[in-house]
Amino acid sequence: MRSLSSLLLTGGAGFIGSTLVRKILERSEVEKLIVLDKFTYAGDRNHLVGPDHDSRLTIVEGDILDQSLTTRLIEEHQFTGVLNLAAESHVDRSIASTQEFALTNVLGASSLLEICRLLKVPFLQCSTDEVYGSTPFPKKFDEFTKLRPSSPYSASKASADLLTIAAHTTYLQDVVIARCTNNYGPRQHREKLIPTLIYHAMRDEPLPIYGSGQQIRDWIHVEDCALGLIAAFEHGTPGKIYHLGARDEHTNLGIARTILKQLGKPESLICHVDDRPGHDARYALATRHSLESLGWKARIPFRTGFEETVREISSQLRIV
Ligand code: NAD
Repeated sequence: MRSLSSLLLTGGAGFIGSTLVRKILERSEVEKLIVLDKFTYAGDRNHLVGPDHDSRLTIVEGDILDQSLTTRLIEEHQFTGVLNLAAESHVDRSIASTQEFALTNVLGASSLLEICRLLKVPFLQCSTDEVYGSTPFPKKFDEFTKLRPSSPYSASKASADLLTIAAHTTYLQDVVIARCTNNYGPRQHREKLIPTLIYHAMRDEPLPIYGSGQQIRDWIHVEDCALGLIAAFEHGTPGKIYHLGARDEHTNLGIARTILKQLGKPESLICHVDDRPGHDARYALATRHSLESLGWKARIPFRTGFEETVREISSQLRIV
């Protein structure tokens, strides 16, 4: 079992990272948590208001590509683990321009991986169900499924996964990969599907839905995902992959309708727009291995978790 006592978390000012910070700090054995974040458009200091009063947390602004910074941090603090969540995470942006995705998601991960190998620090890579490409219904992909990413984003994440697996195969490096399904919850950037739909619905504006809207995603509450990441780090076998999904599949159209219903808005606001190029029809992960070997499973029911999320995001958007 790996120790949580002294951790470096990259991307901790983002959506999943800021929930992971809260979940890590709930653990009494944690003595030190350093968040390293570049504060791109997606990172926000406000996401860490609250946890920033905890004396165990330090926030460092910096790039995971900055090897002298990451080496210094890892040497100085004698981390018991590095959890890499820093990433360019929006598929549409990766289609517009791939460069930043290759830099942060591939080279950044590779750089951290190498420093962790040299300094013998356990490494967790946070990945995505998107690395497998579209999942034909009713199949669920397991951890041995061949990677077939469709977008530049998922290709960059798959590349980092391959480097991580190779580091274990070649050097027996202590690494674990956690592949998560679509997260929902508080503090997600407004450009992502759920905040975008809520934002438009609140303004009685058309809700843009790619193509038919029949694309299926497995939606997991971000708190469940954060607990899964901790479980994968603590208990994961070196070199193994763990799936973090909720087995809660919904179409994008269904998500839009649920939001409109909760906000008391008409379905006529739904507006179909040209589909995203290379859009995967469905993602679905088999999670039995994570349950059996980590004792982890998603616990927040979609109905209550999603209702709460719509309430939280809409009240946040009212303030802005
Ligand atoms: P996000 O875009 O909300 O946050 C990413 C964070 O990384 C931001 O705070 C940003 O400032 C930081 N960052 C970006 N480039 C950096 C760099 N070069 N150096 C240091 N920090 C940098 O992303 P998210 O949705 O919280 O996703 C977190 C991780 O989880 C990513 O690795 C993503 O691929 C993965 N993931 C996300 C989802 C999801 O549904 N959101 C699903 C599966 C996997």
